[in-house]
Formats: sequence, C-alpha cells, structure tokens
Amino acid sequence: MNLFNVYPLFNIEITKGIGCRTYDKEGIEYLDLYGGHAVISIGHSHPYYIQKLSEQSEKLVFYSNSVINKLQVDLALKLGKMSGYEDYSLFLVNSGAEANENALKLASFHNGRRKVIAFNKSFHGRTSAAVRVTDNPKIVAPINEGFDVEFLALNDIDSVRRSLYNNDVCAVIIEGIQGVGGIRVPDVTFLQELSNACKDTGTILILDEVQSGYGRSGKFFAHQHAGIRPDLITVAKGMGNGFPIGGVLISPLFEASHGLLGTTFGGSHLACTAAIAVLDVIKVEHLVENAQKVGDYLMEELKKIPGIKEIRGQGLMTGIEFEGEVKDIRSKLLFEKKIFTGVSGTNTIRLLPPLCLSKVDAKLFIDQFKSVLSAL
Ligand code: PLP
Repeated sequence: MNLFNVYPLFNIEITKGIGCRTYDKEGIEYLDLYGGHAVISIGHSHPYYIQKLSEQSEKLVFYSNSVINKLQVDLALKLGKMSGYEDYSLFLVNSGAEANENALKLASFHNGRRKVIAFNKSFHGRTSAAVRVTDNPKIVAPINEGFDVEFLALNDIDSVRRSLYNNDVCAVIIEGIQGVGGIRVPDVTFLQELSNACKDTGTILILDEVQSGYGRSGKFFAHQHAGIRPDLITVAKGMGNGFPIGGVLISPLFEASHGLLGTTFGGSHLACTAAIAVLDVIKVEHLVENAQKVGDYLMEELKKIPGIKEIRGQGLMTGIEFEGEVKDIRSKLLFEKKIFTGVSGTNTIRLLPPLCLSKVDAKLFIDQFKSVLSAL
C-alpha cells in the first residue's frame, strides 16, 4: 500500500530531535524554527517529558471515559491555574479541528442559532464541522451544512457589529493570532469591542488558540494581550509537545450534561501525562517569558534587515513577508544553512520555534538569514 500523497515532502528523513535541534538519518543537524507547525512547545525529547511518558506507558496508556481518570482532573487543575482560567472547565479531545468542532457545537446548543462569523484568511481545521478559509481555492474545505458561515475582514469592527446586532449569530470564531493565514495579530481594541458586541447580543465568542496558545505569544493565550475573556477557548498543538491532545476551555456560562459531548480517545492517560509534563516544563523553565524575550529580540533584529515587506507577530510566532515568493529563501535556509522554517501562502516565512529557543540560536538564524538574503 502507498501513502495517500497529500503532502509535498522535503527529501529529508528526521530520526531524532533534542531541544531546538533535529537530526536526519545521516546525522545532519538542523535548527528547528518550525516545531512541526507550532507543536513542539518545550523542545524535542525533553528528558522530564520522556521520563513521565515512559513511566506512564509502563502502567497504562489508555482506558476509556467510562471510569475516573485522575490525570484528566490534574491536567484541568494545572491548566486552569497556569492559564488564568480556574473557573472554566475542560473538555479533552485529540486535535485542533476536533476542539473547534466541539466549541461550535457547544455554542449552537447554548443559543440555538446557526450562523457563525469567521474572518478572512482564518484557519480552524479540516473537518466538515470546522470553518476554515485560505487564499488557496484548492483547499477551501466544505463548511458544515449545519452552520451558515459569514467571513468578514479582520479588525473591521463595523462589519462585525452590523452582523451581530441582528441578534441571530451563534458564534464568532477567531484565532488569537492568525497562523496559516500569514501571522496576523488582531488589534487589541478590535478584540475588546468584539468581545463587548458578543456579550451584548448573546453571541458566543470562540478564541481559537490552537496555534497561538500555550505561551507562544508571550502570554499563555494570545487574546490575553487584549485582556478579554472569551466564552470558549480551543487548544491543541503545543499542548502535548507532539503527543496528540486538544481541548476546549469552557466558561461557567455552559452547563454540562451527560452525553452532551463525547470522544473515544480524548484525554487518554498517556495524552494527559504528556500535557501535564508540558505544563510543568513551561512553568519551571519560564518558557512563556522566554517566548516574549526571544520573540522581541527576533523582531528587533528582523526589522533592521532591508528588503522585507512586513514583519508581523508576537512572541515566538513570527511572519516575515516579502514582495515576491519565499520558496528559494526557505529552500536555501533548509538545504544550505540547515534551518527549518515554515511558510504562510507564497510570500511569507513563518517561524514557530520551540518556546525554549535561546537568544544565541535566534542570532544564529538572523545571521544565516541575512547571508541567504544577500546571496539572492
Ligand atoms: N486552528 C488553528 C488556528 C490551526 O492553526 C490549526 C492547524 O493548523 C487547527 C485549528 C487544526 O488543528 P489540527 O490540525 O490539530 O486539527
């Protein structure tokens, strides 16, 4: 059987990772500034994480959600404390798309409405129930028949208000920072006014923090830069440092009942162990603060480089946009300088390194980046 060929692949086979470095099967070392789409939060193969996963896998990997799982309770307590959402509850799933799907379901159960507002260039996953849109017409997914989705311009509060004040919108779903769509940070005032308009109109505000959450922006959640408190917050990616786990943080506005939501694998013993270990390391190693500090340094240094159209981002979530395509730049960084980066669309380099990136490694990237640009 062949693999279903949906991913364009670099001809590199990564077989090992340590911290911010990965190694291919020939032992060649790469600096990882992409972390598998923002998944590697605490660094590859962190020893504490490995130890916790090994210990748990010897005991129990998985049972089911029909018996008490103390690890889920421990995870919820820790996540509540570290994120500043102690009064919210947690529903555990396996991925970002599943988290958004469940958030949309909860919203529609709550107010009985069907209309959803999302934003141009947003990305919320690839299931039929999760809304998403990109500039690429090839990958515009079907949108759940259950919802009518309206796409509005990010930061245009007037058009949001025009829609919301019909009092028929179920939910607004917005990324803390748009990732796939090019690292676009919503304005602080836009988020605050959006939050107020949602409250006024009984609309549920869903903050998709799948890519921008877990400390990446320099706060636990990116929306916390605006001081708002959404009704639902979705997480995944960095939550398990590579072990699949996602979740919905649910405000006290929502009442749980048996059978309202459900999943087979969500919140398995091993997944919770991974997620707890991630939170422990984030706390002990001050990775949220590190993301802010090293992110600020990167931004400062990038701004000094001529020839860049725009630099966007917050913390360790950075978009570097050029007038033209970045394919060659990315390819030279990878094959000549041995540095992994990502892209958004065709013209933007996207950096999503592990949150333990040091200033020394950030400087290494800046030097190599300059060298690639000057040789173009
Ligand atoms: N939401 C955002 C903001 C994302 O960036 C992604 C994935 O890139 C998703 C949701 C979907 O997550 P997953 O691929 O885990 O389903």
